[in-house]
Amino acid sequence: MPLDPYDYVRIQAQLDFQCRRCGMCCQVADPIDIYPKDIRRLASYFNISAEEAVEEYTIPHPTEPDLRAFKESMPCRFYDDALKGCKIYRARPMVCRCSPFLSPGQIGLQGIEIYEDCPASADDLKRIERDLERLLNPDARTRKRLEKALSKMMQLE
Ligand code: SF4
Ligand code: SF4
Repeated sequence: MPLDPYDYVRIQAQLDFQCRRCGMCCQVADPIDIYPKDIRRLASYFNISAEEAVEEYTIPHPTEPDLRAFKESMPCRFYDDALKGCKIYRARPMVCRCSPFLSPGQIGLQGIEIYEDCPASADDLKRIERDLERLLNPDARTRKRLEKALSKMMQLE
């Protein structure tokens, strides 16, 4: 997977990210992309077959023919308003694991996307801007560490 310097910045930003558990992203994200690995994770979590997981929890993705999307979003059916958190945290999809700085579609694109709805990512942007020069020039060891972290987060298949 080809990475550009800003990708390394975003990987580090994701690793440093401290969610405030405001719950906003789980209430406004739509569609919530579901990859094949997400299906298998859901099936295992609910102890059902992959076919049942597809049927019960997903619909065709509105724009990506190779993906599915969660059946209910805005808010996500797994959002617990009382806890301000995810009811299936261990089995949450890839896009939720990669939020807010990384998502499968963003990797390889230059720039840092900030979700306006996420107060913590806006704060992180200020920190990133302050440290950008240092973050854009990671040494070889740091790059390797970040690539390893990325591949762990991005196990799509
Ligand atoms: S699966 Fe969990 S983390 Fe992802 S949007 Fe739904 S409630 Fe939020
Ligand atoms: S919007 Fe940002 S701070 Fe709020 S729950 Fe989502 S990731 Fe965390």
